[in-house]
Amino acid sequence: MAELFDYYRPSLAVKGIERRFPVRRIFCVGWNYLDHIQEMDRKLVPQPPVFMKPGDALLPNGGEIPFPSQTKNLHHEVELVVALQGGGLNIPVEEALDHVYGYGVGIDLTRRDLQENARQQGEPWETSKSFDYSAPVSMLRRASSIGHPAKGRIWLAVNGKLRQEADLKSMIRKPEELIAQISMYFELKPGDVIFTGTPAGVGPVKPGDHVTAGAERVGDIHIKVGGPGS
Ligand code: MN
Repeated sequence: MAELFDYYRPSLAVKGIERRFPVRRIFCVGWNYLDHIQEMDRKLVPQPPVFMKPGDALLPNGGEIPFPSQTKNLHHEVELVVALQGGGLNIPVEEALDHVYGYGVGIDLTRRDLQENARQQGEPWETSKSFDYSAPVSMLRRASSIGHPAKGRIWLAVNGKLRQEADLKSMIRKPEELIAQISMYFELKPGDVIFTGTPAGVGPVKPGDHVTAGAERVGDIHIKVGGPGS
């Protein structure tokens, strides 16, 4: 029973302080960089799709992940992650950044083959997006120390080879716009985090690969893709 009552609570380290940031929900948006929309042969949409990963899909500060089952095409997507200290419903854009505690770098791991299949069948995305270990996120840095990074390099490399590189200023919807949009549908709460979409260069990883990613002023993260889980 100990396991039942002392269940794992996902959290992230915060640079410069001892307490950890307790992660509540993980919201994600799609289609937020034009070059990624183009590489996937999609069209710009008025509002980006919003989906969630469970909080315990979080892999705090990276590390090794088992290669997920049921996929032959596991993709990396590097993203700026926004961590909230406040929330609410229908948050105005001009107040949205007041609710931001800090920022991190995340990798939105995706079973691309299952996602394509779900898209064709009109099925939900959970098995392609919301699986165990699908949300590695770096240590957070507080907005009170780094401000709100509206520009700066974001990148990802596999085995030292650069795969994704863009500037945060290329985001179609800024973090404050995403917070406002998501809060039209969900009452945002302290502890919620938001993956803000990926730039071009997404691609597959395989067992044994080392993935490193970072964003200027925000931080960096490393994961190793292990063998299949048992
Ligand atoms: Mn993504």
